[in-house]
Amino acid sequence: MKFGNLTNPIVEMTEEIRSILNHNFDYVEIGIEWPEGDVDILKTKKKAILDLTSQFDAPPIGHTAWWMDFSSLYEGERLAWIREAKRQIDIARDLDIGLLNFHSHSVYMDPRYGKYKTQALDNFVLSMREIIKYADNYGIQVIVENPGQEVEIAKLKDYSYVMKRLPQAKVHLDIGHAFMQGGMKSVNGFIKTFNKRIVHLHVHDNHGEFDEHIPIGNGKINYPAVVKMLKKIKYDRTATFEVFTSRKDAEASMNKIKKMWK
Ligand SMILES: [Zn+2]
Repeated sequence: MKFGNLTNPIVEMTEEIRSILNHNFDYVEIGIEWPEGDVDILKTKKKAILDLTSQFDAPPIGHTAWWMDFSSLYEGERLAWIREAKRQIDIARDLDIGLLNFHSHSVYMDPRYGKYKTQALDNFVLSMREIIKYADNYGIQVIVENPGQEVEIAKLKDYSYVMKRLPQAKVHLDIGHAFMQGGMKSVNGFIKTFNKRIVHLHVHDNHGEFDEHIPIGNGKINYPAVVKMLKKIKYDRTATFEVFTSRKDAEASMNKIKKMWK
């Protein structure tokens, strides 16, 4: 297992990576996100970033903004997000990123939208197929993260709908987000359904209501049970600590999980 930490997009990028290195993480998950992770800014810092990432045990992973709406029913907006995703893939390649995440975000999952909900799911698939094809040219593996909010493609049923139609995409399982969709039963459902297709994790805690991103043990997620489920599928890849209270808290959470893993 390799354990990492995500950069805070509000803080200058090299400062963030240096801090993550100093907090004993195995790799950095680079937020290719506005404002400090904007593609044009990252281009100017390419050499400095590569110098830092080469000092980690494992290669960097890419993380894009959660609100990019590839499911948009406004065609102009949908195409604009695809264009932006391609720019992000270009910079990911420059930064030697092999795994790049996109979120199955959508604002159309409210059941009141009726048949338009399915149209939004199909639009997400359409957009992602084009993005996967583009990333594939550079040998970049696209991973799709399950989001947390009610109106996103967050429920196992909706997430499965799109992932079934995107066989080339791998699963990026966010444990905290899965928990918000129905507690430990939901976490178990995601792990059992996708099994070996899961290639990356986000780890943090919450009380099941809001996407709090608090330290492990401060919320209601039964992490010893989660670790047991992951060991059952022989999960042995990457886990990024998305604890947003502080980097020190993220490091302490990592140490807790490391203990459970042993
Ligand atoms: Zn996440």
